[in-house]
Parts: sequence; structure tokens; C-alpha cells
Amino acid sequence: MWIVPSLLYTGNMEIKAALHAGWKGIFLGIIENAVKIFNKEFCVRPEEIKVYEPHICSLCYEVGREMESKFNIPLNNNKLDLSEIIYNKLKTAGIDKIYNIKRCTFHEDDSFFSYRRNKCTERIISVII
Ligand SMILES: [Zn+2]
Repeated sequence: MWIVPSLLYTGNMEIKAALHAGWKGIFLGIIENAVKIFNKEFCVRPEEIKVYEPHICSLCYEVGREMESKFNIPLNNNKLDLSEIIYNKLKTAGIDKIYNIKRCTFHEDDSFFSYRRNKCTERIISVII
């Protein structure tokens, strides 16, 4: 299982959300739903939302070939660039303030825990306060 955290927030930090989703949640629209909730419940326009996303990089995320058709995106040596998928979904939803720290929570084993890498109880958490 692979989980990507997406931390959404407004510039004044009044409205915040921490989304944790695997490919299924992303495929089923967790990002789009969060943007709708920001708008309907809090009157926040997409262009007011900022997103911060630390996660596994496209060189490390190996998936089955079925993901190619599911996301309609070519795999590179069975590697899926979920960053690109999420980025495109955020842009389509009207969000343009996307902060990808370009650090990999999988191969940077001196900085991040990764269940996918270690298969142990050590986990990475993402929190927004
Ligand atoms: Zn990596």
C-alpha cells in the first residue's frame, strides 16, 4: 500500500485539511471532493488553497500495468508518477499553489520512515496545525 499525504490550507491557515489516500482514493476523487468541501462549507475558492505534498517519487513507485489504463498515463519501467496525476488533478480543480518538496519518502531512508520500504511498524505521519 502506498499513501500520499496532501496537506491543503488557506493562506491565513484558517481552513486546513490533511488528506491521506492511496491510488484508489486519488482515483475516486479525494482531491476533487476536498476542494468542493473547501468551497461549499467554507466559501474558499480553489485559487485560495495551497497544497503541500511530501511523498514517494516517480522513480520509486512501482505498480502493476493496470495502473496505466486506470489513470490513462504511461508507466516508465512500471513506475507511476503519481505526483503528476495529483498535480494535474489539483490544477484542474483550480489550485495553482502546489508545493512539492521533491524529496522522496521512500529512497531517502535517512530522513523518512516508509512502510513500503521497511515493512515494519515505523511510519511517517503528516500533520497540519
Ligand atoms: Zn524515490
